[in-house]
Amino acid sequence: MASDTSGPAGATPDPEKFRRVPKVLLHDHLDGGLRPGTVIELAEATGYQALPTTDTAELGRWFRDAADSGSLESYLETFAHTCGVMQTEEALVRVAAECAEDLADDGVVYAEVRYAPELFVERGLSLETVVEAVQAGFAEGERRAAARGKVIRTGTLLCAMRQHARALEIADLAVRYRDAGVVGFDIAGPEDGFPPTRNLDAFEFLRTSNAHFTIHAGEAFGLASIWEAIQHCGAERLGHGVRIIDDIKIGDDGTPHLGRLAAYVRDRRIPLEICPSSNVQTGAAQSIGTHPIGLLHQLRFRVTVNTDNRLMSGCTMSSEFAALHAAFGYGLADFQWFTINAMKSAFLDFDRRLDVINNVIKPGYAAVL
Ligand SMILES: [Zn+2]
Repeated sequence: MASDTSGPAGATPDPEKFRRVPKVLLHDHLDGGLRPGTVIELAEATGYQALPTTDTAELGRWFRDAADSGSLESYLETFAHTCGVMQTEEALVRVAAECAEDLADDGVVYAEVRYAPELFVERGLSLETVVEAVQAGFAEGERRAAARGKVIRTGTLLCAMRQHARALEIADLAVRYRDAGVVGFDIAGPEDGFPPTRNLDAFEFLRTSNAHFTIHAGEAFGLASIWEAIQHCGAERLGHGVRIIDDIKIGDDGTPHLGRLAAYVRDRRIPLEICPSSNVQTGAAQSIGTHPIGLLHQLRFRVTVNTDNRLMSGCTMSSEFAALHAAFGYGLADFQWFTINAMKSAFLDFDRRLDVINNVIKPGYAAVL
């Protein structure tokens, strides 16, 4: 599948080439993508005093190391800091605007960025104010990027935290703001002990409202979580979903055999929002080179490539592409396939998805292929 035009296998990939081609991002957390310098400035502006350091380069390293440490406690501490500095309208506008700009600079042409509004109400903001501030920020970021000749379209997904009991309320919020840039819903947070079926009322409400949702499933926890997300909750996409690999057995002759759930996911073209670097950090995969994405791509599951948390993983869409190129020898034809997969799977109107595929992605790759 590696019809490569980005250099002979094993050659150092040119990250600039990956930055120039159009990319589509479906799984990126707003509170996991702040610029380290912005974290420091917002901490100063809002009186947040718990940062481990106020040196920009050091703070960037600290986030990556803490997320890398294998300790859940330090991983969660990273989000305590980012959420800690995002408790005002001004902070939310700034973070969202910079998110759109940073993604546009990386060559992302369409992005769905998610966040849990309930995490930003510590200082008294209402859920509605949080959503409106984030949408205003994305609109501003799109405008600033366009002024520099970089066109990006964004949508947001509202997450409910699995360990809280506000899913129905957040689902209602997502539906109320669906004409204002909110394109879907998700549940995030600890997977083990908090199965998606705890939130059945929210998913039923969304389905009967003809609204879209994805579910974090099959990252930290296995097939049962994926099965519940699809068959009980009705998820249209799977956040991560990498554990679907547990339902694929390799025969003695090397032939892969799909179990019933894996076959269902592939047959129905259920998109997998795969985040390679993040999966290595959380232990969902041992390394990029042994990541299940290799087999899932070979078997033509609806695989998409995503960043998850750009700050904690120190990654971008381009660096994820470069890492996959280095590990699997994927070339631009493969990256176009991932990108079209993602755009087909976006929670955006069909007409607009087609427009991006035909008028942005295909010409963008044609120019370099
Ligand atoms: Zn995630």
